[in-house]
Amino acid sequence: MAGKRERAKSPEQKERRLSSRVQELRQKERDEKERLARERVNFLSDQSSKLCDDETESHANKEEEDAVPVSTNERTLTTTMRKGKNKSLAFYANDEDPHLKVRRNLRFFNTQYLLMVQAKLSRPDLKGITEVMKANAVLYPRKRIGDLPGIDVGHQFFSRAEMVAVGFHSHWLNGIDFMGTDYQTEYSDYHFPLATSIVMSGQYEDDLDNADVVTYTGQGGHNLTGDKRQYKDQELLRGNLALKNCFADKVPVRVIRGHDCKSSYSKRVYTYDGLYKVVKFWAEKGVSGFTVYKYQLKRMEGQPELTTNQVNFVRGRIPTSTSEIQGLVCEDISKGLESKRIPATNRVDDPPISPSGFTYINSLKIEPNVKIPKSSAGCSCRGSCTDPKKCACARLNDGNFPYVDLNDGRLIEPRDVVFECGPNCGCGPECVNRTSQKRLRFHLEVFRSPKKGWAVRSWDFIPAGSPVCEYIGVLRRTDDVDTLTDNDYIFEIDCQQTMQGLDGRQRRLKDVVVPTDSKASESNGDENVPEFCIDAGSIGNFARFINHSCDPNLFVQCVLSSHHDIKLARVVLFAADNIPPLQELTYDYGYTLDSVHGPDGKVKKLTCFCGAVKCRKRLY
Ligand SMILES: [Zn+2]
Ligand SMILES: [Zn+2]
Ligand SMILES: [Zn+2]
Repeated sequence: MAGKRERAKSPEQKERRLSSRVQELRQKERDEKERLARERVNFLSDQSSKLCDDETESHANKEEEDAVPVSTNERTLTTTMRKGKNKSLAFYANDEDPHLKVRRNLRFFNTQYLLMVQAKLSRPDLKGITEVMKANAVLYPRKRIGDLPGIDVGHQFFSRAEMVAVGFHSHWLNGIDFMGTDYQTEYSDYHFPLATSIVMSGQYEDDLDNADVVTYTGQGGHNLTGDKRQYKDQELLRGNLALKNCFADKVPVRVIRGHDCKSSYSKRVYTYDGLYKVVKFWAEKGVSGFTVYKYQLKRMEGQPELTTNQVNFVRGRIPTSTSEIQGLVCEDISKGLESKRIPATNRVDDPPISPSGFTYINSLKIEPNVKIPKSSAGCSCRGSCTDPKKCACARLNDGNFPYVDLNDGRLIEPRDVVFECGPNCGCGPECVNRTSQKRLRFHLEVFRSPKKGWAVRSWDFIPAGSPVCEYIGVLRRTDDVDTLTDNDYIFEIDCQQTMQGLDGRQRRLKDVVVPTDSKASESNGDENVPEFCIDAGSIGNFARFINHSCDPNLFVQCVLSSHHDIKLARVVLFAADNIPPLQELTYDYGYTLDSVHGPDGKVKKLTCFCGAVKCRKRLY
């Protein structure tokens, strides 16, 4: 079961809703822009006064993935942030849920990262962090002991840079993060330096099931440029001393495990494993004969265990054949129409039912009374569109490509409208500006959930900005749908609503420049009422099984490729976050509460089971 936007509200109601919403949002946007500008000025003047460096050994204990020399400039930036005393955190509202803050922080970082990739800069991850700092968007610029709100045990980060962007482990290179003596006044009872978190590397992967006691080797004394061998004694200074002080002061340390993970786009994943206490520390002679410091850490009681899912995906234990799939009720709901099989599983019902009552299609079926406008002119590029100055399609997207050519194409950020290349463009099917038109790239599963009916998840990592699917069904006039009863699979093509960010729940950053020919369809006199919808009631693709969430990991993006009529835009779902395997895929159905009316004219209500911390409790 899934309700998209039902067609049970009157045009008047809908228009009222839109116009007041539009006005309110425009005012909010103006306020926000002003505020951000002010913040930026404050931040920059603040920054200039604290460029000092307490990192003399910041290259110690580095992980292999970071084995790229870093300029002094970049190191200074990292250090500055670690010492940062940002007075205000205006990027976040005070009353905002911490989990949402973390999500917004990571989404913002991801966008900055992708922009740097697009600009072809070296170390786009570090440049991305710099942008997060400039925007005052580091969530925890001051280090803290213990758990950080919004980051639960089991939280997965997809790069060291993500942890720096949040302020969870504020050094992007060192295994040990610690508070320096400048924190002494804040915590007068403790000895400084004092460790806050450690990152353990992949060699501990086999301990995951039995990870309550771990041994950690201190940092320093490694040959950094060559074979990474120990070439001198480690010293009881800095990070090593910080961990010793945690032992003396009985201060808990956050433990993060880094794993190699082939299915992750970054090839690495970092899992927060919880708080540990240092129960023992000692010095010993390492294999090369030099002194190394060792610390035994014990996991504190009363913390959630890492779930099987996390263990499974880290080890890549994803079914490889249909015989491994538990509860299989259908081998491929697409019946061979998609480039990858989409199995359906049911471990809820007894006897298990399989999805039925619909026919699978993978491109829109168009009703005879819907006129698709003539294809627009397109660009004259060859092969793949690469030069935004020469590509007519890039010019429609504020002068640059909305996608970056990474992991088969990723959308940098949600936009009002994305203009893709179309049938009249000179480029080929592999053009990056056709990202949403390419075939299915993830291994998906339709599964039965206890409360929400059918649901969809992926066995692969989905990098933020990846297209997941287009919403496919019958393209019809919305007026023709009213006569149908109880159809929960209607998706109104309401670009106005997505442009306004679903009542402000999902912000769009770009101002759209909709070309005049984008309003091509004959107006029915009311711009705000969606004239067309996609009806997946009886035929459609797997998108019809994706559930609503008040805190979703996908977003709706209107895409124009063959023509420029936004009333007939393609509706494409993109990943808002880096989505780990087996996490249910969801998007915001976009209802406004009390906006749905039954045939009797009464307000209809439907309970929401999304389970988000900030669930609105009702779908409509
Ligand atoms: Zn192109
Ligand atoms: Zn082009
Ligand atoms: Zn083009």
